[in-house]
Amino acid sequence: MAAITRLVKRVSSAAPTFSSHAPPLKERNVQWVFLGCPGVGKGTYASRLCTLLGVPHIATGDLVRHELSSNGPLSSQLSEIVNQGKLVSDEIIINLLSKRLADGEAKGESGFILDGFPRTIKQAEILEGVTDIDLVVNLKLQEEALLAKCLGRRICNQCGGNFNVASISVKGENGRPGMVMAPLLPPAHCMSKLITRADDTEAVVKERLRIYNEKSQPVEEFYRSRGKLLEFDLPGGIPESWPKLLQALNLDDYEEKQSAAA
Ligand code: AMP
Repeated sequence: MAAITRLVKRVSSAAPTFSSHAPPLKERNVQWVFLGCPGVGKGTYASRLCTLLGVPHIATGDLVRHELSSNGPLSSQLSEIVNQGKLVSDEIIINLLSKRLADGEAKGESGFILDGFPRTIKQAEILEGVTDIDLVVNLKLQEEALLAKCLGRRICNQCGGNFNVASISVKGENGRPGMVMAPLLPPAHCMSKLITRADDTEAVVKERLRIYNEKSQPVEEFYRSRGKLLEFDLPGGIPESWPKLLQALNLDDYEEKQSAAA
């Protein structure tokens, strides 16, 4: 992972100078990226997979929110950008990500699943210059469900757990099947501590979706053209989607194989 911690040097460098130092896949843990619109569930599925595979889940949105809550020098600048649903500059996001990766490397972390990065072609190019990404999973859901999921999202301000109070039912149309997603309700002890993200209001979610289509959708094509993109249409909530995602990733019997090898 040493090469990727040098991301910060690349963001301001016009002429990229270093190549990938990633060892062959069998010698290291997975280096995956999760793409998808706001509200699609990148965090939920990426963090579950990270637990399964024993790699860190690195969500740049979490890094931004952590920086915001720390009241550091960037806080006020960041809160204005995030609360309008806009993207933080490549330079700031790469600084935050580099620091996170360097801290992880110092603790002996290896491999990762990136969630929310890259979000622009420039970020994708910088990432490609410093490390090998094995696979990019593109999670997809109808826009109607995305908005409802963002508006229903709740976070426990004590344990950090992610929940959803929305009961979603989307009618099938144009050959696409309908879909039902049950709420993901918090346990009783979190109920009084639920908060809503400041950028999960209807106006800001619509702006985030617009920006995703403009700036982040080209990143899908960037990875598609390199043969790294796995498209995954979520068939419903976690109970329906998780086993199918494991199948699509050839991980459906991973846990059994791991315990047999132990
Ligand atoms: P998320 O939790 O991924 O929805 O991210 C929350 C907010 O953090 C976004 O709306 C952006 O303002 C900012 N952000 C997160 N990741 C990035 C990124 N890769 N590039 C630019 N801004 C980002």
